[in-house]
Amino acid sequence: MSPPRGRCAGTAARRRIAARCRSTVIVLLRPCSTLCLPDIRTSRQICAQLEEGDVPVRIIVGAQWGDEGKGKVVDLLADQADVVVRYQGGNNAGHTIENEHGKFALHLVPSGIFNPRTQAVIGNGVVVNPVALRDEIRTLEERGISTRNLKVSGGAHLIMPYHLVEDGAYEASLGKSKIGTTRRGIGPAYADKAARIGIRMQEVLDRASFRERVKGILEAKARHLRLVYGADISTLAEECSRFVQAAESLVHYVTDTSALVWNAVKQGKQVLFEGAQGILLDLDHGTYPFVTSSNPSAGFACVGAGIGPTYVDEVLGICKAYTTRVGEGPFPTELHDAAGDKLREVGREFGTTTGRERRCGWLDLVALRYAVRVSGLTGLCITKLDVLNEFDEIKVCCAYRVEGRVYPDMPPYQAAVRQVQPVLESLAGWRTDVSGARVLGDLPEEAQAYLAFVTNFAEVPLRLVSVGPAREQTIVVSEPSR
Ligand code: IMP
Repeated sequence: MSPPRGRCAGTAARRRIAARCRSTVIVLLRPCSTLCLPDIRTSRQICAQLEEGDVPVRIIVGAQWGDEGKGKVVDLLADQADVVVRYQGGNNAGHTIENEHGKFALHLVPSGIFNPRTQAVIGNGVVVNPVALRDEIRTLEERGISTRNLKVSGGAHLIMPYHLVEDGAYEASLGKSKIGTTRRGIGPAYADKAARIGIRMQEVLDRASFRERVKGILEAKARHLRLVYGADISTLAEECSRFVQAAESLVHYVTDTSALVWNAVKQGKQVLFEGAQGILLDLDHGTYPFVTSSNPSAGFACVGAGIGPTYVDEVLGICKAYTTRVGEGPFPTELHDAAGDKLREVGREFGTTTGRERRCGWLDLVALRYAVRVSGLTGLCITKLDVLNEFDEIKVCCAYRVEGRVYPDMPPYQAAVRQVQPVLESLAGWRTDVSGARVLGDLPEEAQAYLAFVTNFAEVPLRLVSVGPAREQTIVVSEPSR
């Protein structure tokens, strides 16, 4: 019989690796234990509790429109991970991490950087702004966090200054139809990658040809930006040389990260793939065109890191107890009333990267169920449950209504999604501070009922609940519940 979802799916995969590679016999010696975890916990052991199962290779994805609180979960799990890999996006992402070293806002460097024995990897699927990365490294080093274990894939593409100008120019040209991008040059950098005129990190290994190529591309880009968009390009050349120097300063971090990750996988080490943004912002599966230009969905973790899908054991989706979104685009459960303001205020819903106010709304279970489907989630982590402490009633969206027709699942075409009216169900609030809860049983009945409703509807086992920003404000669920 095949193992239950979320338990030992990767065991067969490791068997296959071991069959191919004798040195990995050790991975077969690990018993296929279940995830039935004891309800005993200390803050340092939260991670160990989650590791009880046999899940060396795990993907963490945002199950909404980004900003789900992935940083905290990744930071917790990174405590025991041997390798933590970012596989897509760029410095459009941003998450705040609070740990024993202080409070940090990371944009590019994976959370594993705080653990001195963990390799932190920026994979080939990421687009790297070299100035942003260099500055982030400097800040970490200045605060006593070593970046010795940071590695950047030679296949990662560079964001260059003309991408930033293009991002602004495209948005301006779209007028009211603008995407509401972070203006970090993400879309144009991925567009150049697809058009095969991008510049990859590995090119810094040959300085002369790197500089020559940048010069050639810059000339063409500058002409295009001036003639087509009337863009101000007066400082573009100067900016480019700043980016070139920053990229060259990163040369020591560049390596073949696909081989590095593969070696870790075949040795049975703990590998954590850290997704940025969320599934509803996925270029292929999100609310196109109001999406980012990469694929946050779990399937891309393999492409963006350079390993095969057969080696993945678990896919954890992170989802807030409500929903937020930044930028433009459909948001069926958005609230424009006092409840929305309360979610924003209590949840401190302002972007880590741009400082923009996040749009806030009730939890959208149709979108969550869609995320479970397109990313094959094997477990769910619900964050910011404490933000709902003061609501008398809490609503959740259980279907979409479009022109009198009810959709229990995501409508297949975006035109319908744009006109959606949410079908809301009302659940009882708990009006109690849950931030001190450490096991499910500490939560008021209404809060437990809320979590059960969500996971039953989304058909995914609950793995973790976060009730505050600190590491210890975490509930690891003793048994996968459905
Ligand atoms: P871009 O990724 O800057 O091109 O922006 C495209 C869309 O994705 C915009 O709606 C952004 O607000 C959104 N977006 C990009 N990165 C994040 C993120 O880390 N969290 C939430 N939304 C994001």
